[in-house]
Amino acid sequence: MATVQLESVFKAYGRTSAVAGAHLTVLSGEFVALLGPSGCGKSTLLRLIAGFEAPDAGEVRIGGHAVTGASWVAPEDRRVGMVFQDYALFPHLTVAENVAFGLPAAARRARRRRRGADPRIADVLGLVGLAELGARFPHELSGGQQQRVALARALAPSPQIVLLDEPFSAIDPLQRSAMREELARILDLAGTTVLLVTHDQEEALALADRVALMRDGAIVQVDAPERLYHEPVDRWSAEFVGTANVLPRAHAAALGVDVAAPGEQVLLRPELVQLACAPGGAGEVVCREFRGHDVMYRVRLTDGTLLWSQRPSNELVPLGSRVHVRVHPGPVSVFS
Ligand code: ADP
Repeated sequence: MATVQLESVFKAYGRTSAVAGAHLTVLSGEFVALLGPSGCGKSTLLRLIAGFEAPDAGEVRIGGHAVTGASWVAPEDRRVGMVFQDYALFPHLTVAENVAFGLPAAARRARRRRRGADPRIADVLGLVGLAELGARFPHELSGGQQQRVALARALAPSPQIVLLDEPFSAIDPLQRSAMREELARILDLAGTTVLLVTHDQEEALALADRVALMRDGAIVQVDAPERLYHEPVDRWSAEFVGTANVLPRAHAAALGVDVAAPGEQVLLRPELVQLACAPGGAGEVVCREFRGHDVMYRVRLTDGTLLWSQRPSNELVPLGSRVHVRVHPGPVSVFS
């Protein structure tokens, strides 16, 4: 069942078209990442779902019901939880009070009458691993803990969907991967439907069941991470989702790539391009970036073609080496 559906949604700010005919379906229980470069309309799309903006045309449906146009539903009545980029916690409220703010006004009033013992707040704080920190203020928490408070606040009213806007942009790169893992674990435990906005390919591929790739206000491909990476719809998508060698068909054939599908351009991901040092080799390593877990090489072939090759860091090839290039059998996709 679909939790969120967008049908031909358009939104412009003056002469800037932010969302231009976007279609998207997020199924119940799914984790979808909305991935695209900065300025392509991701945050606007999120705001249209949350109800902070109204579309100029098209329709947004949540839980099967239209929430835009004549059937407009206010943000607070959409049952959508939102985690903002900067978390938007109230600095003068404790963790528990911030989370209580996520609950509908009636529940907050009932909580005040009961003097603070709302079991739902304890539940969600437990879920995000902050059961002991309800009395702290946001400034007494780490960035990661603040994010979990924002998540608890979004989850408190049991929303139909949680929207996350670039949740790791304020986190230093060293902590990011641990936090990603923790966020995925919490959201999985909560069993909620998720739409996460990011411009970070690695984040989208690592976290999502499906990735919706957005470009210039439209969704250009929605697929499982593996498929998006190996079978992008066009050259732009191939290059946005990872490092790509895009070769004319004849060049790929000369490297021994057997391409059955029709199409003029062949995508070879760099991990398929193997190098063997050989004095008479047809390639020369002209650039080399050691990255710890792997090495990215730029190899120039005799006809001038430049290829990316990604090799494990236990297979070191010195800069300037002559190499034989061999393409490992693997997923190769073709587009026109
Ligand atoms: P993203 O989240 O992908 O970076 P946004 O949705 O924030 O993209 O923005 C899409 C486009 O709409 C950009 O060109 C941006 O400058 C413009 N835009 C977004 N919000 C506003 C606004 N409130 N007023 C004017 N232009 C806006």
